[in-house]
Amino acid sequence: MAGRLEGKVALITGGARGQGAEEGRLFAAEGATVVLTDVLDEEGEATAAAIGAAASYRHLDVRSESEWEAVVDAVVAEHGRLDVLVNNAGIDLVRKLDATTLEEFERVVSINLTGTFLGMRTAARAMTKAGTGGSIVNISSVAGLQAVANHGAYSSTKFAVTGLTRTAALEWGRHGIRVNSVHPGLIETPMTAGMRAFTDATVRAKAERNIPLGRMGQSADIANMVLFLASDDSSYCTGQAFVVDGGVHP
Ligand code: NDP
Repeated sequence: MAGRLEGKVALITGGARGQGAEEGRLFAAEGATVVLTDVLDEEGEATAAAIGAAASYRHLDVRSESEWEAVVDAVVAEHGRLDVLVNNAGIDLVRKLDATTLEEFERVVSINLTGTFLGMRTAARAMTKAGTGGSIVNISSVAGLQAVANHGAYSSTKFAVTGLTRTAALEWGRHGIRVNSVHPGLIETPMTAGMRAFTDATVRAKAERNIPLGRMGQSADIANMVLFLASDDSSYCTGQAFVVDGGVHP
């Protein structure tokens, strides 16, 4: 049986590890040619090699306009097309608002928001030029739909990604480009590995009691949703926010 991404070319940012790496594995298993990008070059190369011939790795700091242009040009030159972009790269910042420095705030904005904007714009231009349409999946967060204390900078960028997604869907639908956002709850990845909810069994058990589905999220939970949005299975969905959080935010 043909995979759900057979013949498609997908670019994933922040794909060296965590959710992005899992999406790369799943996409390749579903028939896609996968280009993983990240700033963690050694880890990214190893992740792509472990996936196999369907995957490759390229350095891409999502804050850089020129790197975005070079990478998208290279993907189109090498693979002939770009069908799917997953804007997954992101950083967290646990800091009270009144303790957040301008430098910290701007760093979170530049990666989580500006990086997503640059990726969307660069990919959409290539997709529009090729006339093939495509699917852009932006990884926001439940913190992009509901405020989370001590995450003011992070949360504001994730709310902004929700807004960018909806605007882009309105503007690019006529080019056959669908744009949706995914909103993970707490997911077990390198980003969250140091949190007490993952390092302390008692805290974890308490946290899991507050999740209707009774367990922490895993990268595969997010990857399955991202696959749905990347593939033609979601061909009539655009401008929407998809929450994957075990039922915490009904
Ligand atoms: P990880 O930290 O495991 O993966 C994110 C990757 O993005 C890392 O490899 C990171 O590298 C990379 N990255 C950071 N800065 C840049 C940059 N400037 N350019 C390119 N890549 C960069 O996190 P997750 O897999 O958990 O997170 C993936 C996405 O999911 C993020 O957008 C996150 O905000 C979102 N999310 C995660 C949740 C969770 O509970 N894990 C919950 C809700 C949303 P580096 O080590 O340098 O930071």
